[in-house]
Amino acid sequence: MEIDEAREVRTTCPYCGVGCGVLAKVAADGQVSVRGDPDHPANFGRLCSKGSALAETIDLDGRLLYPEIHDRRAGWDEALDLVASTFSQTIAEHGPDAVAFYVSGQLLTEDYYVANKLMKGFVGSANIDTNSRLCMASSVAGHRRAFGSDTVPGTYEDLELADLIVLVGSNLAWCHPVLYQRIVAAREKRPEMKIVLVDPRRTMTADIADMHLAIAPDGDVALFTGLLAYLGQHNALDRAYITAHTTGFGQALFAASALDLASVAAATGLTEDELGRFYSLFAATSKTVTVYSQGVNQSSSGTDKVNAIINCHLATGRVGRPGAGPFSVTGQPNAMGGREVGGMANMLAAHMEIENPEHRKRVQRFWTAPAIAERPGLKAVEMFQAVADGRIKALWIMATNPVDSMPDADAVEAAIKACPFVVVSDVLARTDTVRHAHIRLPAAAWGEKDGTVTNSERRISRQRAFLDLPGEARPDWQIVAEVGKRMGFGEAFSHATPSEVFAEHAALSGFENDGARDFDIGAYAGVDAEGYEELAPFQWPAPGPVQAGRQPEEGGQAGHRPSSIRFFADGNFYTPDRKARFITIRPTVETRTSPDYPLILNTGRIRDHWHTMTRTGKSPRLSQHIAEPFVEIHPADAQRFGIGDADIVRVSSPRGDVLVRALVTARQRQGSLFAPMHWTDQFSAKGRLDALTAPLIDPVSGQPALKHVAARIEKFAAK
Ligand code: SF4
Repeated sequence: MEIDEAREVRTTCPYCGVGCGVLAKVAADGQVSVRGDPDHPANFGRLCSKGSALAETIDLDGRLLYPEIHDRRAGWDEALDLVASTFSQTIAEHGPDAVAFYVSGQLLTEDYYVANKLMKGFVGSANIDTNSRLCMASSVAGHRRAFGSDTVPGTYEDLELADLIVLVGSNLAWCHPVLYQRIVAAREKRPEMKIVLVDPRRTMTADIADMHLAIAPDGDVALFTGLLAYLGQHNALDRAYITAHTTGFGQALFAASALDLASVAAATGLTEDELGRFYSLFAATSKTVTVYSQGVNQSSSGTDKVNAIINCHLATGRVGRPGAGPFSVTGQPNAMGGREVGGMANMLAAHMEIENPEHRKRVQRFWTAPAIAERPGLKAVEMFQAVADGRIKALWIMATNPVDSMPDADAVEAAIKACPFVVVSDVLARTDTVRHAHIRLPAAAWGEKDGTVTNSERRISRQRAFLDLPGEARPDWQIVAEVGKRMGFGEAFSHATPSEVFAEHAALSGFENDGARDFDIGAYAGVDAEGYEELAPFQWPAPGPVQAGRQPEEGGQAGHRPSSIRFFADGNFYTPDRKARFITIRPTVETRTSPDYPLILNTGRIRDHWHTMTRTGKSPRLSQHIAEPFVEIHPADAQRFGIGDADIVRVSSPRGDVLVRALVTARQRQGSLFAPMHWTDQFSAKGRLDALTAPLIDPVSGQPALKHVAARIEKFAAK
């Protein structure tokens, strides 16, 4: 590769769903440096600690550089032939549902598109699901129930325009730091902006909150159902909007009205005074954005929580207006891109629905595919259960580490070990998952591949390569396409470049689009290699064709789109009658604790690590922030269980245990524990937190309840 010192490559951060623009440069000595892209509309030059440390995480230490078959180095042709022939044979003998792909929100949209096309249109199964299932599936399901489509109505700008931001189950300060910084900056300009944090823990985000509601775990449905009742009782409804643009209000309000303030207080663990102050603030503030994240999604009632929030916004007409709307922020860099191309077991490409025969016909026709999946496939937790009981006989895992990150991780590991044929394509040679693969395929890493990602405000940005591919690594889309060709589907997988994949994806989004679907970037269908290279960040739907070299709007890059595209401002939704649906919800109280496991363990992230630390674990700077795994415990619980600050403790559930350091703090709610999910046995003696979590899922979204695990804690005494 020629090194051009002056050349900075515009790319996108591979961590969270904020989707910050990054400028990366390779110096003459090969050193990489990064800085925030001042022109990117997500971050305007800002980067958080993780984004700033990207250059420290891209060395080749531990990389998988060559294909391997049963631990020996192999050539690509041999490895790909074996993958294709084994998948084909398994399908021939046991049917298409005997194979599965488990993919990742780390994949680029082009990777996702090709994998989804192969599985749904050519294998003929919908057994492709993603680790994004663990991240935002409840928001997808909630959007579809209320709006008739998986659409985030608002934009980041709405958070700056709002007079009230309600953050629910979202530690934005640590998990979406640049978005948090935008709010802080906006509040400095408009000190009258109010912020309410709804979270069992007093997280760093509480520092900017005017009100922190330390809600009981899973009390969110009661909180927002109670709010709906309050709005009805205090004449704070937008009756005209409800009548013109929604259905189901009467029933939803009737169910909510069964809750009086005392019962909401009991279910949420909040005082009636706290509830009254929050409810009156919400009722009085027309420009309100409710931001929600994993604390809402990762729950056995996650979809109901999402709809309880959306109900309150519909009741006040606060959807798709500047500074007002419900706003789901995604954890992963391309959870949204995966949704767009149907990289989930219950969706089709271009936001079409697998249950809709017309949509199935369209996608099949567009792909000229021999088959099309006719029913939803297995969602993540179910998929590994099917691996365990032998229904899945050939499994391909791409860019993710389920042995450490799936709930009930020991059972998942046992399932993968017992599976007759496991392929893993990954950047690293020996994660806890890669170790168990029969075939290992070296994938290109961030900085080495080209493609697109979509952030939480529907903004599609380019990831661009600035490094040579090391060893024999290849981009994921290309690996999957090669397998597709070898399975006999050559024509459909003959893309030569990621721009060709993107152009096909764009064409499908506009293909026979009758306006009943929200996702349309069809204007980009004709994008050529040059246009793709110059593609500037844009939000869907795309209003017109991209033009390479087009004059930038003020302060933007060439080809910029308007920065604030909102959905539903006109009150039209994607339901058959074009009206949004209120969902009738009755809060349920579920007790998972028991005398043996009397505490509720909440799992989550810390500021400077990402997922199972396969990348951030390489940066000593990032590890300085918090150097070891820990569990937060309230002082009263610490006293009850004889635990002192900094003691080594064993945290156990019926499925497993970890050894971590105790952090005694009143930030933690009494009766609950919090522990970060990042450490694995690679970084800590016994640190795989997901060995404890349960495969309990939301019945609508299939998302696991990773924030409500019955657990116990005891001081560790070495024998
Ligand atoms: Fe990357 Fe998210 Fe940090 Fe932005 S906020 S730099 S996308 S990790």
